[in-house]
Amino acid sequence: MESKVEPREESGPDFLKRLKRLGPGLSTRPGRVGRLVGRAQRGHNRRMLEKRGSEAAPPGVWWWQDSRQDYSPLEGDVAADVVIVGAGITGITLAHTLAVGGASVIVLEAGRVAGSASGRNAGFLLAAPAEPYGEAVAMWGRAGARAMLEIGRRTHERVHELVETLGIECEYRRTGSVRLARTEEEAEDQRASLPLMRADGFPVTEVPVATVMPGGPHERFDAAFVTDEDGEFHPVRFVHGLARVCEGRGVRLHAHSEVEAAHWGGSEWEARTARGVARARTLVIATNAYAPGLCPALAPLIAPRRAQMLFTARLEREVVTRPTCAHWGYQYWRQTPQGRLLIGGWRDLDLDGEAGFGEGPTSTIQNGLESGLRELVPEGVEIEGRWAGIMGFARDGRPLVGWLDAEHHLAIAAGYTGHGIGMAAACTQDLALLLAFRPAPGIATFDPARFPELRRPESSLTSLGASAPRTP
Ligand SMILES: Cc1cc2nc3c(=O)[nH]c(=O)nc-3n(C[C@H](O)[C@H](O)[C@H](O)COP(=O)(O)OP(=O)(O)OC[C@H]3O[C@@H](n4cnc5c(N)ncnc54)[C@H](O)[C@@H]3O)c2cc1C
Repeated sequence: MESKVEPREESGPDFLKRLKRLGPGLSTRPGRVGRLVGRAQRGHNRRMLEKRGSEAAPPGVWWWQDSRQDYSPLEGDVAADVVIVGAGITGITLAHTLAVGGASVIVLEAGRVAGSASGRNAGFLLAAPAEPYGEAVAMWGRAGARAMLEIGRRTHERVHELVETLGIECEYRRTGSVRLARTEEEAEDQRASLPLMRADGFPVTEVPVATVMPGGPHERFDAAFVTDEDGEFHPVRFVHGLARVCEGRGVRLHAHSEVEAAHWGGSEWEARTARGVARARTLVIATNAYAPGLCPALAPLIAPRRAQMLFTARLEREVVTRPTCAHWGYQYWRQTPQGRLLIGGWRDLDLDGEAGFGEGPTSTIQNGLESGLRELVPEGVEIEGRWAGIMGFARDGRPLVGWLDAEHHLAIAAGYTGHGIGMAAACTQDLALLLAFRPAPGIATFDPARFPELRRPESSLTSLGASAPRTP
């Protein structure tokens, strides 16, 4: 395991292929455009958070129908060891780990707990991202790619452990997962990755397509690959279940409490919301796509990307046996224990349109999702809801987890590039080690300092949000 990040050359055909898949707007140089994006993004963040803060629950998001627990806003002046900004799966798993370790914790959330991507995702717990492993090796080197697999495996183990030991009811199942190839080229790319994955301790097996699609349509796919260790769960129930445990352990959790600005006063952070102030020696940014809103230096490194889903009424028959990805991971679906089909992705139909903070579903992508549904359920089934959520895509495809400042008062866990459900719980377990000034080799390759712009002395971070320095 590498303990030090080697900055990689961001070039070459594999990197470009992968960047094309990630979508537009990930400028590799901050420059003037990056700064303007940062400014525009802060405005977007604010408008979006204001809008969401007043909503009772995200409309049309099926996950929310049975998890409407809410938390009161921060009032007054409070203090703790750590302030966490953001109450998605990152903020809540970190709060729990820190509280178990004996730290006092305040979590401040602009909208609702799990109201953003953590409450709008597909609930896949994948150890390996759906893209061929060979691409990951080409981009990040063997050790870097293996670190991604290992964090995925550890996240699943961590989620399983939390579900079991804390009794969180969240429909968790270790089902395994399937990757389907729509073309021979994709099948060959996946096949070429199998020996690499096996050698790195993550066996994936090619199986006949018909065995993983008992209800058809097998003829649409060239090959199928199965991983037995993956799983699925109900993300809102998981995050809310853990949030309740956090409360029981003394974590002070405040929703509808956007951190508008934060300032390091020499011995502590002072994080300001509309009606309160939270103080702590350590502040953690757990806001994923919205991280540049607080810290403009991150604007060239984490970009907002929309992902969309739809869900159907219950189906009597089993359409798919396991969480399934196809078409290089752009398309994904699974059937819940109640028989509903959840279908997401098809972002590649409009990569430009899916960049930014707009949270509404669009006809282009929803038409794509419906074409996938027709393929899977040709007899037809009612669509009961549609939604979209915003993901944070990191410039090199790997999350940023670790200290943001040289003085070690400010940390981050964000930029999961569409895989945060399968990565956050282990990332935050390791981040808690770093916050206690202990080594955390599992996240060494996610160190934000791999990006040169975060190593510049002028980016010393003592003000966030409205009070953050503005580039001229
Ligand atoms: C449709 C869709 C499907 C997906 N499917 C999967 C999947 O199956 N598997 C997988 O691994 N990943 C999936 N993802 C990605 C995954 O959901 C995210 O990577 C993950 O939820 C990120 O969690 P988070 O807690 O870091 O961020 P978020 O869930 O985005 O939480 C960040 C929180 O910070 C809050 N916030 C922002 N700014 C402030 C501020 N200034 N003050 C206070 N609070 C603030 C926001 O309101 C938000 O609640 C999917 C995403 C989408 C949209």
